[in-house]
Amino acid sequence: MIAIIGAGTAGLTARREVARVTEDYVLIDGGPMGTTCARVGCMPSKVILQVAHDFHRRVHFETMGIRGGEHLSVDRKAVMDHVRQLRDRFTSGVLRSHHDFEEKIIRKKARFLDQHTLDLEGERLIFNKAIIATGSSPIIPAAWEKFRSHLVTTDDFFEMQELPESMAVIGLGVIGLELGQALFELGIETTLIGREGNYGGASSPIINQEIKKSLFSSMNVILGDAELVSISDEGKLVIAINDQQVHVDRALIAIGRKPNLVGLKLEKIGLSGIPKIDPTTMAIQDFPHLYLAGDANGIRPLLHEASDQGFIAGQAAARHDPVCFHSRTPMAITFTEPNIASSGLRFQDLKEQNIDFITGSSSLVNQGRAVAQLRNKGLIEVYACPKSARLLGAEFFSPSAEHMAHLLAWSITDQKTVFDLLTQPFYHPVVEEGLRTALRDVASKIKADERRLELHRCAQVLPGNNM
Ligand SMILES: Cc1cc2nc3c(=O)[nH]c(=O)nc-3n(C[C@H](O)[C@H](O)[C@H](O)COP(=O)(O)OP(=O)(O)OC[C@H]3O[C@@H](n4cnc5c(N)ncnc54)[C@H](O)[C@@H]3O)c2cc1C
Repeated sequence: MIAIIGAGTAGLTARREVARVTEDYVLIDGGPMGTTCARVGCMPSKVILQVAHDFHRRVHFETMGIRGGEHLSVDRKAVMDHVRQLRDRFTSGVLRSHHDFEEKIIRKKARFLDQHTLDLEGERLIFNKAIIATGSSPIIPAAWEKFRSHLVTTDDFFEMQELPESMAVIGLGVIGLELGQALFELGIETTLIGREGNYGGASSPIINQEIKKSLFSSMNVILGDAELVSISDEGKLVIAINDQQVHVDRALIAIGRKPNLVGLKLEKIGLSGIPKIDPTTMAIQDFPHLYLAGDANGIRPLLHEASDQGFIAGQAAARHDPVCFHSRTPMAITFTEPNIASSGLRFQDLKEQNIDFITGSSSLVNQGRAVAQLRNKGLIEVYACPKSARLLGAEFFSPSAEHMAHLLAWSITDQKTVFDLLTQPFYHPVVEEGLRTALRDVASKIKADERRLELHRCAQVLPGNNM
């Protein structure tokens, strides 16, 4: 018997792989079904951001000769209804997919009694192997709980019937910046608060400076540690940051997420904290019959990673022969405007791993297509090996980075060099030409025996170029 704990993205993918081999499994979930991504994560956040970006475009209308933009307004209740309507569409798609294995689902919370027994709210389940895919939850510091009536997390944000007049967003990571920008662009009086350092998943100091300069200057951002002080006589939440105070209707707490492990009582089987895993099988160190996949292991809390890790855990749990998988090239995208993104190794990863690298960069300020779109903000950095010219990674703060991050991640997977990439076609005018500028910059810093041409000579054999 294989027990899969958690019917989110990781658990559902693990189930699919297990079911290819055996019918001797159960899928246990004690919370709301439909996955975090579709219910309260990736999807509803992208819906509200889309509405916000579309509405915000009006700030350019006068410049572009479009009149009447000042008469546009946001119906906050209708916006939230729209978000929920699409959210329901995404979750119902997930729920429909459960029909084929409904009889395998146990709607209960699981906790460990010993290495082969689970307690399912009073019922015992004996298992041979278990895949733990219990996801993660927003962190709220214990000291802030007394202000809970004024706090919102992503678990309840999308349930708000109407957006309040004023909101603070505490945390300048991916979720804080995405939802903070959405609120700001929708015309909510928004204060973003967070620590100085890395913003929206970026790690390069220069990219972070650029984010600070051109994104934060357009919004109300206060850098520092937030302290929740009191509820004012007017019923507002009072937040202190450095020597400033802000009074808001609600605060969205986006200071991070923690793996959902506490309720599992892992201490009953001698595990504490976040167990270490072998990423090639997802098996927990010294517990080869237990696997930990998705946000629950805290490694890369992203949807496609949860899905891949569920796949690996499902394959490993269902098969007797040993399995071993590589993870894909890392990639992350924050859907702010401009996007913040990375492919392969980020600046910080390269530094931490002591990898020798050189950087090519390109500003988007005068990039033709970005100028035409009035989206000309940002910077791209690409990192390459100075000896082999192999592309190692990139960080973006750029319009359309969601697409360029894919192009570079795919090229890194294929072990392409900077020179290989420069032989690829670039249409004009596209934002990708800005990426080419960064590639040319890094290429110019690589010592080569002869000048590398971007076009192959006739004598050279061209892969697939027989059109
Ligand atoms: C606002 C927001 C925006 C995001 N945007 C993006 C994005 O744009 N792109 C991206 O890649 N990622 C994004 N993410 C992250 C992404 O949503 C997660 O990485 C992914 O959903 C994790 O999937 P999972 O299977 O690990 O967990 P989940 O989908 O959370 O599944 C875990 C399941 O385990 C169940 N469970 C927990 N404990 C127990 C227990 N003891 N017993 C039984 N069942 C239990 C829960 O009820 C839940 O159903 C976002 C997240 C948030 C919050």
